[in-house]
Amino acid sequence: MLRSTGDRVVIVGGGIAGALLAKTLQNHADVVLIDPKEYFEIPWANLRAKVDPAAVERTVVPHTDYLTHAKVVTASAVGIDDSVVLTSIGRAVAYDFLVIATGRTCTRPQKQSDRLEMFQRDKDRIDGAASVLVVGGGPIGVELAAEIVMTCPDKRVTVVHGGPRLLKVMGPRASAKALEWLRSKNVTVLLDQTVDLTGASPDGSDETRSFTTSAGETVEADCHFVCTGRPVASGWLKGSFIEEHTDEEGHIKVDDHLRVGGLKNVFAVGDITDVPEAKQGHLAQRQAMVVSRNLRLLVKGGACKEEKLHRYKPCPKAPITVTLGRRDALAELPFMTLIGHIPGAVKPRDLFISRTRRMMGLKSSRPYGNMPRAM
Ligand SMILES: Cc1cc2nc3c(=O)[nH]c(=O)nc-3n(C[C@H](O)[C@H](O)[C@H](O)COP(=O)(O)OP(=O)(O)OC[C@H]3O[C@@H](n4cnc5c(N)ncnc54)[C@H](O)[C@@H]3O)c2cc1C
Repeated sequence: MLRSTGDRVVIVGGGIAGALLAKTLQNHADVVLIDPKEYFEIPWANLRAKVDPAAVERTVVPHTDYLTHAKVVTASAVGIDDSVVLTSIGRAVAYDFLVIATGRTCTRPQKQSDRLEMFQRDKDRIDGAASVLVVGGGPIGVELAAEIVMTCPDKRVTVVHGGPRLLKVMGPRASAKALEWLRSKNVTVLLDQTVDLTGASPDGSDETRSFTTSAGETVEADCHFVCTGRPVASGWLKGSFIEEHTDEEGHIKVDDHLRVGGLKNVFAVGDITDVPEAKQGHLAQRQAMVVSRNLRLLVKGGACKEEKLHRYKPCPKAPITVTLGRRDALAELPFMTLIGHIPGAVKPRDLFISRTRRMMGLKSSRPYGNMPRAM
């Protein structure tokens, strides 16, 4: 049992929100981070990493590189009561303050080296394929199709999407522009169709095979990637006192201070929350910073008045940018939708990797665009 110290903050989930919170709080409280992975990963770099793994070395970072004053428990949280988090390794971790930041369900290897190998395996699969199937036309599917076609224009890429338009998190203008852009690069886009993946290997590493869509079309593909939405990772909260504060999709209901169920010491941040805004990394980081500031006021017996606590203001109209290879992007701003090199000048080259590393107190290291390519 890791006992409480009076100012113990236990953060469950070492993703974009939880890792930043742990990093900014580690010198102000007794911080324990619980995460099944030994590393922090910048998720929006992992699509480019599939075609250029040279990018991954600086986007997959051991937690211990930026958490010099916090404890890391490498395990999944499997249960919770009003003072203790139970973990998959049988260790109970007592808390005074708890922050839930488990994002979306996702299976990742425990070790950094295994994660880097995964990227290389994906690259090898793409390199060895003449045709690639991307299942799902949300931001992840569109970005992946664009990365593949811009890096390897000789590949036949097909995107199959279950809805009537791509990118439903953006407006119809953005959807139309994305469709036109992909088709201009010879990507086949099938809308309003789903793919029967019965019998396909979960990691998409099949030999050449045919996929049948719900409209009866056949797609031949040497490899495939599933880029459909993942449910939020709140299953471990089932049967706990938090469950009654979740909605039907598993999001945790939070108040203006990102606290849960009116409790003074339990917070949630990031994709797991029901905050009415798009689930994006930069918004998860903003939420983490609000909770970080509030916890600094509350730990060490801080008798902080309610009105002094910071509030989180949701951003339902936050701009969304979808990267389209290394030079182009699609950006939906409050008053216009842009596609091409102009929005592309902002994000695609570095994918905000240097900025994210700086936020985590890590050296920015070589700019991604200058890194040598893998042979
Ligand atoms: C491929 C991809 C591209 C994206 N592109 C962008 C982009 O360009 N811009 C943008 O703003 N956003 C982007 N996003 C969205 C962004 O990454 C998410 O909004 C953000 O990661 C949410 O942060 P989070 O901390 O809530 O969850 P996550 O980053 O998903 O982290 C959740 C953490 O919780 C851990 N965890 C899960 N279950 C447990 C458990 N039971 N016990 C302990 N730990 C647990 C996981 O290991 C993980 O470390 C992208 C996402 C993906 C997947």
